[in-house]
Amino acid sequence: MKFSLTAEQQELVEKARTFTKEWVAPNAVKYDRSGEFPRDVCQEAFNQGFMNPAIPKKYGGVEESVLDTCLALEEICTGCSGIGTAIDANGLSQYPVIFAGNDYQKKKFLEPMTQELMFSAYCVTEPEAGSDVSRIKTTAKKIGNDYVINGVKWWITGGSVASWYFVLAKVDDKATGFIVPADTAGIIRGVKEQNLGQHASNTIRITFEDVKVPQEYRLGEEGDGFKIAMKTFDHTRPGIASGANGITKAALNIGLTYAKGRRTFDKKLISYQGISFKLAEMMTKLDAARYMTYLAADLFDQGEDNSRQAAQAKWYAAEVAMWSAVECCQILGGYGYTNEMPAEKLLRDAKIYQIYEGASEIQKMIIVAKLMRTREVH
Ligand SMILES: Cc1cc2nc3c(=O)[nH]c(=O)nc-3n(C[C@H](O)[C@H](O)[C@H](O)COP(=O)(O)OP(=O)(O)OC[C@H]3O[C@@H](n4cnc5c(N)ncnc54)[C@H](O)[C@@H]3O)c2cc1C
Repeated sequence: MKFSLTAEQQELVEKARTFTKEWVAPNAVKYDRSGEFPRDVCQEAFNQGFMNPAIPKKYGGVEESVLDTCLALEEICTGCSGIGTAIDANGLSQYPVIFAGNDYQKKKFLEPMTQELMFSAYCVTEPEAGSDVSRIKTTAKKIGNDYVINGVKWWITGGSVASWYFVLAKVDDKATGFIVPADTAGIIRGVKEQNLGQHASNTIRITFEDVKVPQEYRLGEEGDGFKIAMKTFDHTRPGIASGANGITKAALNIGLTYAKGRRTFDKKLISYQGISFKLAEMMTKLDAARYMTYLAADLFDQGEDNSRQAAQAKWYAAEVAMWSAVECCQILGGYGYTNEMPAEKLLRDAKIYQIYEGASEIQKMIIVAKLMRTREVH
């Protein structure tokens, strides 16, 4: 068991830290206020190799380990997790293709993403199906050599900017995954949702009206879709946990700096246990969340089953980020509540980590499901 980063990993962290300092942090307020998509920052992330890390070498990618991706993402999300999500979200739709796609599909849809800045999006959630994916109503009807897709997908990250979508639809009653080019006739994109936080990340509703896709764009067999959609989370949840860890790290640094400088009753805030213990707990919880994240990522990289560990990391890191953001605001007093200081943004941005890619309750259900199959925990 080793708890240190390799020289290459240390270098990656330094590179991500510099990118965050030069590109992410300086643009955080601008994109939070405007709600525009941070295309220029994504372009630079692409130029520096922070986008599409999972694409296999065979298709022009770098095939980075999940652990390395997590290390970089934690740094980026320390600067702005909304921009971090815009940079990272491709992975959610790319993994179904990496996991279940054939050579033709990988070449057609993944390879171009290594050559220029492009986006893709994962379309699973619907108005009546979020946590319970089995309730999706989107249908794909086989007509000749094509499938015709009808349905509505909600809260699709990167939906406005994507060139193609991973779409989960039912063929008869079998959940099936499809790659759908975004310029296909019958795709109607809604307006950007006005979310609580992560304003730099684009979320929209997408309606599919008689959208025709050739059968070559079906991923795996009919009925493989649920497995593909869920397996994807084993790959992406460590990254989500890393984003949450980035928020915790930002909250800790902001709280620490403020507590060291601010004086009340003739003493610095940090000299009061009521304040300093918050920071001690934040640091400890951050380390715990990080190790859980790194373990979940490393298990995936080793080809081991990581569903429980990924759920644990995602749930715990999200709770820690939310709690840390609240405590950071408290340490800053009135400044914690105004947008003059970054604490209120952290609070708004943190909440989504308890919801997307499976809400906290769903992560606990995954953990329990694994425990049900365990006679004794060692
Ligand atoms: C900003 C944003 C971006 C998103 N991006 C994407 C995307 O790119 N692609 C995509 O497909 N989806 C996306 N989503 C959807 C997201 O994954 C879902 O919102 C999430 O899975 C929860 O589903 P739901 O909203 O339908 O809540 P519901 O499933 O209706 O759940 C409501 C609440 O009840 C809890 N709950 C549900 N069932 C149980 C249970 N059995 N026991 C205890 N508690 C339960 C949930 O945890 C939650 O707290 C995004 C959502 C947001 C807000």
